[in-house]
Amino acid sequence: MPKSTTVHPEKNSASDYIGRFAPSPTGPLHFGSLLAALASFLDARANQGSWLVRIEDLDPPREPAACAGLILQQLTDLGLHWDGGVLYQSTRLEAYELILKQLQAEELCFPCDCTRAQIKAMGNVYDGSCRRRISAPTKDFAVRLKVDAADVSFEDLIQGHYVQNLTEDVGDFVIRRKDKLFAYQLAVVADDEMQNITHVIRGYDLIDSTARQIFLQQTLNYSKLEYAHIPIIVDKMGQKLSKQAFAPSIDTDHAASLIYQSLNLLGQSPPTALEKENTQQQLQWAIKNWDLQAVPKLGSLFSSK
Ligand SMILES: [Zn+2]
Repeated sequence: MPKSTTVHPEKNSASDYIGRFAPSPTGPLHFGSLLAALASFLDARANQGSWLVRIEDLDPPREPAACAGLILQQLTDLGLHWDGGVLYQSTRLEAYELILKQLQAEELCFPCDCTRAQIKAMGNVYDGSCRRRISAPTKDFAVRLKVDAADVSFEDLIQGHYVQNLTEDVGDFVIRRKDKLFAYQLAVVADDEMQNITHVIRGYDLIDSTARQIFLQQTLNYSKLEYAHIPIIVDKMGQKLSKQAFAPSIDTDHAASLIYQSLNLLGQSPPTALEKENTQQQLQWAIKNWDLQAVPKLGSLFSSK
């Protein structure tokens, strides 16, 4: 699949809404990631918005080469067609570097060579100790963003009011890792801004990243976004479906059945007759009847899928 840097979709005149689905290509889509893709697609289309796909390929050793192409093929098979070109984060390293330089110039971040064991001893909430260091680190170091003591809060469109105190819950957080890879938080914030994203609909497992992302947006004077976190799918052991836990890939030979089940889990109450329709008809129905408020206000949902 050719890599493209074309990222600005043709603005849909009906709406300024721009949503996105942003998988990391560490494995094919599983049922949990399908649910997130479908919810963000439906919310965008129901609001006459654009829907973008971004491949978060920042960690090459964990990303089998064919994965991104496979994910895009799965989305196509499901009828989830995106607008414009696909943005690959691996093409954005210079932009991330510029942001890092800006934060360094303003002394909003600092080098940290604390070990995993040291951070564990802090109770996994970084205590800011390297902020005060005078000498430059002599070994590999991460770069952390200074957080402040104020609460960060937002109104999640599904889950409601959410508040986090970064100093108490997280501490100064990593924006560039020790292995020199840019951290997820920095890349996501940079790309959401560059792509003019207005709405982020994603899995509940990312809700506790949201305060960090909002804090970084504020630090960089970026636009404010709307967020909605849908339940993640867990198996009967209560384990999140994930690539790390070897969740099975979805089988798009059964695309219509997958979409129908997803609509049910998303609380959309599709009519039984819709189960026998093709994906195009199912998606048409779902866009017309989409109700974000019907999505269960839960962190997780069980599915036998
Ligand atoms: Zn440190």
